Amino acid sequence: MSIHVAIPTVVPTHPVVAELDRLGDEIAELSAHLDAATARLLALIREFDARGGWNRGFRSCAEWLAWRVGLEPGAARERVRVARALGTLPQLAQALARGQVSYSKVRALTRVATPETEARLLAVARAGTAVHVERIVRGWRQLDRRAEARLATRQHTGRGLHVYRDDEGTVVLRGRLDPETGALLLRALDAARETLYQRTRGTDPGLAPPTRAQQQADALGLLAESALHHELDPGAPGERYQVVVHVDAAVLTDPEAPGQSELEELGHVPAGTSRRLACDASRVVMRHDEHGRAVEIGARTRTIPPALRRALCHRDRTCRFPGCEVRVGQGHHLHHWAQGGPTILSNLILLCRRHHRAVHEEGYRVTRAADGALRFARPDGRPLPDVPPASAVPADPIGSLERRHAADGLRLHAHTACPSWRGERLDLGWALDVLHPAAFPRERGDRGGGA
Ligand SMILES: [Zn+2]
Ligand SMILES: [Zn+2]
Repeated sequence: MSIHVAIPTVVPTHPVVAELDRLGDEIAELSAHLDAATARLLALIREFDARGGWNRGFRSCAEWLAWRVGLEPGAARERVRVARALGTLPQLAQALARGQVSYSKVRALTRVATPETEARLLAVARAGTAVHVERIVRGWRQLDRRAEARLATRQHTGRGLHVYRDDEGTVVLRGRLDPETGALLLRALDAARETLYQRTRGTDPGLAPPTRAQQQADALGLLAESALHHELDPGAPGERYQVVVHVDAAVLTDPEAPGQSELEELGHVPAGTSRRLACDASRVVMRHDEHGRAVEIGARTRTIPPALRRALCHRDRTCRFPGCEVRVGQGHHLHHWAQGGPTILSNLILLCRRHHRAVHEEGYRVTRAADGALRFARPDGRPLPDVPPASAVPADPIGSLERRHAADGLRLHAHTACPSWRGERLDLGWALDVLHPAAFPRERGDRGGGA
């Protein structure tokens, strides 16, 4: 009789395989360090964003970020979005800071996670691969979207306006509007109220000021009147909000000069504002006599003729302010026409609305250097280059990253971010039933902790 004992044999790892394993571990370990560093980066971006650090010439934190660190605009927006989201998702933020979940997973999860669901979703991120996380998030959003669509349909079908006369003949209104129409109505009421009460402010000092409700009623009257007056024509988008500026020629030439610079019905505006509005506008020159009566009215002309504007848009493509990619813009005279600047292509640049304001009203300067290049400067005179200078990087960036993480008590290794998944098939329907709060509303309570 013979007994076979299976003795486990250990074949020595081939040196090449061992070397590749070490290389793989190094990749995994450094990735964990980078994810931990990304968490710190996002925290810095969040603070910079919240404190408005970008709000000096830039339209948004993402735009500043794209300019300052050379990110593609979409990636910059995504960073800012994730940074903001992590402000309310401490568990996800901490897992990223510990290198336990990758930035990819966190980025996906922040699209759906809320403070109530982040613990469950974090468990998914720790257990599954990035592909699992992506699929769960997609399914999750579908559930969210369906709920949203149901709400929108309810709001739309529930719309209605009841108008009737009571016994005394007073007209009574009661209604429900979907959010979009409601927003439109609120804006129109605001504008109408502003117009009415700017116009009549201070005329009857003895009279008690009208209540908010009375103002709203008057504003609705004005809306009805002006809608009928314009035969219910909403107009082309560009014409809807036309502003009329009354400005003395002297004010356009020299902002310090005495003279009027007024927005029709809104009163005095800074000379910089009227210079901005005049930069690219329809212009009607009127001469007034000493009593303010118009004695001569010229033909309406465009400050920048359409053909020149097309050439300008073709040459500049987007706003020329550093870091700005906005395509719709206004023509800016580098040397203002009111001061004798010619309306020719070399004296014009395209600026978006935001940056046109920055140049005329916030002290930013733009000039064309002798070599034809544009030079932007901040209000304090410091140059604002198209491409900012590169950041100082330590001689050994990875070593300093690792030392910093060690000093923070982080022990990162090749398996820090390894999912616990063992290769089973992902049952998406089951996973969502278990995870999504809307899937099993009645059983939500006992499923809160983990998945
Ligand atoms: Zn301008
Ligand atoms: Zn711009």
